[in-house]
Amino acid sequence: MVNFVGAGPGAKDLVTIRAYKLISGAGVIIYAGSLVNPELLEYANNTCKIYNSATMTLEEVINIMADASQKGIEVVRLHTGDPCIYGAIKEQMDRLDSLGIPYACCPGVSSFCGAAASLGIEYTLPGISQSVIITRMEGRTPVPAKESIESFAAHNATMVLFLSTGMLGELSQKLISGGYHKDTPAAIAYKATWADEEKYICTIDTLEVTAQKHNITRTALIIVGNVLNPGIYSRSELYNPCFGTGYREALTPEIENS
Ligand code: SAH
Repeated sequence: MVNFVGAGPGAKDLVTIRAYKLISGAGVIIYAGSLVNPELLEYANNTCKIYNSATMTLEEVINIMADASQKGIEVVRLHTGDPCIYGAIKEQMDRLDSLGIPYACCPGVSSFCGAAASLGIEYTLPGISQSVIITRMEGRTPVPAKESIESFAAHNATMVLFLSTGMLGELSQKLISGGYHKDTPAAIAYKATWADEEKYICTIDTLEVTAQKHNITRTALIIVGNVLNPGIYSRSELYNPCFGTGYREALTPEIENS
């Protein structure tokens, strides 16, 4: 059995109880060493064989999984954040399917959630934005033309950009030409939830200079949108005394005002 496990954004205690149990019960762990906090490996038992996938190919990863499965050894494939976001798990699952090796997935805290926690923000503020666009700049991995930064920018919604820290000048241009005002607030969250995390609030226009000033070239998320500095936003209807829900009766305006 192979378990794809979300390692969370960095902090050693930001994993689920299920992830903790899977890591401590594994005979083989293959972890994404470029981003997974190695402190998580302290949860492994001392007979566990540990491989760093940063130096491996997909074929090598699958060979280790297949070999361990044949011997009845539990395998954990540890991916940063949540494996469903830029985790390259589908290609592993397809190969395991063709080899008849069973697998399961254990979700984790994605770094975009870790970054929101570090910044103390809510991505979905009533009256400001009710959507979060998760995307990236095109790098070696192509991005479909219909998913251009400009086209997403037209919504002026909250946007979280993964894997884009090395291209911030170009990113700003695309965000502005797509429709955000250049002074729209933006944030750089570097190693969110790690002991050495750094976070900076700037504007779309100043993303590149801010990153340069602090020497940030990777392992960061870019967050864009007015939720970072919302000014006036609407309160939630769910907790508004004037509105009833399936769990609570609406209070009369007299009671509300008393
Ligand atoms: N599956 C992961 C994302 C993997 S892609 C998740 O759910 O978070 C790798 C990119 O994620 C990095 O280039 C960076 O943009 C972002 N990232 C991962 N961990 C991060 C962290 N702790 N702080 C900021 N960005 C992070």
